[in-house]
Amino acid sequence: MRSALRQLPDKHKKILLIDSNQQDQSRLQPILEQYPLYQLTRCNDHVEAMMLLQESPVDFIFLSCCCSPLPCPTVISDLHQYQPHTPIIALSSTISEEQGQKLIEAKATDFLSTENISADTLLRTLRHAELTTKQNTEIELLRHSDTLTPVGNRQFFYLTLLHKLNSLIDQKSQLALITIDLDDFRKFNTRHGFSVGDEIVLEMGKRIQESIQRDDIVSRLGSDEFAIIQEIPKDQDLHQTVKQQLAQLITSLQEPYAHHHTHTHLNCSIGVVLAPEHGSEVDLLTKRASLARLKAKQIHGCSYSIYRPGMEIAGEEAKSGLEAELMTALRAEQFELFYQPRIDLRSGKIVGAEALIRWRHPTRGLIMPGDFIPISENNGLIVPIGYWTIHQAGLHLKELAQEGIHIDRLGVNLSFRQFKDEMLVDTIKRIINKETIDTSVIEFELTESAIFNDEEHVRNCLDSLAEEGVTFSLDDFGTGYSSFSLLHKLPISALKVDRSFVSQVNDSSEAAEIVRSIISLAQNMNIKVIAEGVETREQLDFLIKYDCDEIQGYFYSPPVCFNDFKRMLPKNPPLPST
Ligand code: C2E
Ligand code: CA
Ligand code: CA
Repeated sequence: MRSALRQLPDKHKKILLIDSNQQDQSRLQPILEQYPLYQLTRCNDHVEAMMLLQESPVDFIFLSCCCSPLPCPTVISDLHQYQPHTPIIALSSTISEEQGQKLIEAKATDFLSTENISADTLLRTLRHAELTTKQNTEIELLRHSDTLTPVGNRQFFYLTLLHKLNSLIDQKSQLALITIDLDDFRKFNTRHGFSVGDEIVLEMGKRIQESIQRDDIVSRLGSDEFAIIQEIPKDQDLHQTVKQQLAQLITSLQEPYAHHHTHTHLNCSIGVVLAPEHGSEVDLLTKRASLARLKAKQIHGCSYSIYRPGMEIAGEEAKSGLEAELMTALRAEQFELFYQPRIDLRSGKIVGAEALIRWRHPTRGLIMPGDFIPISENNGLIVPIGYWTIHQAGLHLKELAQEGIHIDRLGVNLSFRQFKDEMLVDTIKRIINKETIDTSVIEFELTESAIFNDEEHVRNCLDSLAEEGVTFSLDDFGTGYSSFSLLHKLPISALKVDRSFVSQVNDSSEAAEIVRSIISLAQNMNIKVIAEGVETREQLDFLIKYDCDEIQGYFYSPPVCFNDFKRMLPKNPPLPST
């Protein structure tokens, strides 16, 4: 019988009838014989039906309800789960509306009383069932399709993963869940706009699809986040297979993305989790894949990380441990200010520096601000840490002056969170007066996000502080939201071009254009422009060519401790005694 089903030419509509006592067959067969388009095959029960369906799909399933030992709705549900896109028509000598309703709820497409069935009724039911199933399938397809890329959406991903996980044991297989996103995509979107962002996501989706195996399933989980579900037979080395796949994926994703007649290189991070090795539940696996992806983000460039048991504990413990220790670090005097020189491009001399905080941890060594400033911004500790920074920078300035060393500018970072402190202005004024700090040297560095949060409040704070003689610069310029409009409203006297543009000036025409226009904007407004993160001679030449005022970067010097910074500065001859 298996071969009978398979041999039917495709133009025939295949009907599989599940009917153990053959009563319905005797009623339907004579009618269908008049319509050679329909080919009826019978089997005894739904288990046999499932075996047949595995061999060869059919166009309709007829289920005789009278003779199954199981309740008909249960059988229908099973069949529907197994063949969700095949119409199932329940049959019985007579079916009341109420019984029929129950069958429909169990996902029967339709039901038919076979006692006095006519050809007309049967054919109409078949046509109707076919149409309904087609429409349902289309709706389902739409519901599960991503709106931007030709892959499944988040809902599709969850359903597919659930289904695959349920069948892992039966199929004697294992699977890898691979999630991918781009690094700093939000920044990219803000800078280039959402339509360019969409183009990148579309291209990313295409590249992912081109580098997967035939049976892998790709979905987009949101924004720039994609997931691949890859089923791997038990006899294959899961780790080895996945690693090969990842190498291919990374090769394709690290190619530059074309947009607006230019190319941008975007790094990606990939997190991998394996089932059943790392879990068998959808939520747990997706959480662990994200955790692995976060780990990959700490590695420079396009990279992947495979989940390891304990990863979450390590991450959370390290964070909560650090947070607890941060509370005492200030009192224990574990912070230190490093200084990165600022070079004037016309004179080639050091004209100032940026103060950058470091945490000299007794056991973990030197901790960089990226690892603790965000924590302190979250829990509010940035407020006292920020005051410490201003105070310490002021003391160092005094020490320089006492040794006959002069600098024009000292940049001190102010976090957005510090503006939430109502005492900010008063406290800064108090520190300045207590230590008699030379305010004309201090330049507070603000990010646009600081200002964006509460423009009016920030403006009032800046105006009050400006009365003390301090100046302000906009840090990471070009990456924020409302760069240009802010410049007119606030007392800003310098722009610091973000490192991400400076690092690309010789590779991306777009980055070069951005840097050129920031420089000319600053010139037009009569404010200074400082390029951050200058690492190469070529970048320096570009900045000299376009008349940038100052630079800061590893090319000249990384941030160094105060004593080393002091040694870089020329001493003025002592004042003649009178
Ligand atoms: P930022 O204000 O943008 O500081 C510049 C960062 O770029 C510094 O990182 C500096 O070491 C790094 N950098 C400078 N030149 C180069 C270069 O040529 N190449 C590369 N790759 N990097 C370069 P750092 O010291 O790790 O500071 C990171 C961030 O932490 C700072 O970014 C700033 O936002 C924050 N931060 C540092 N100190 C303080 C502070 O006292 N208060 C506040 N609120 N934030 C701070
Ligand atoms: Ca800064
Ligand atoms: Ca910066």
